[in-house]
Amino acid sequence: MPVPKRRHSRARGRKRRTHYKVKPISLSKCPNCGEAKLPHRVCPHCGYYKGKAIIQIEEKISS
Ligand SMILES: [Zn+2]
Repeated sequence: MPVPKRRHSRARGRKRRTHYKVKPISLSKCPNCGEAKLPHRVCPHCGYYKGKAIIQIEEKISS
């Protein structure tokens, strides 16, 4: 099995890693209530997914 002859320099490794980036989270709009939600998830605001109520959302108790 081939094995690297020399360790890559710190600069070389760091240069390669300049392309590593954290993607911003993607949000989609709920077609039922219009709020931002995570795609492929039940809407946390109205509890709808694919045009049906999947979960019951309780009203906020305080604040
Ligand atoms: Zn919704």
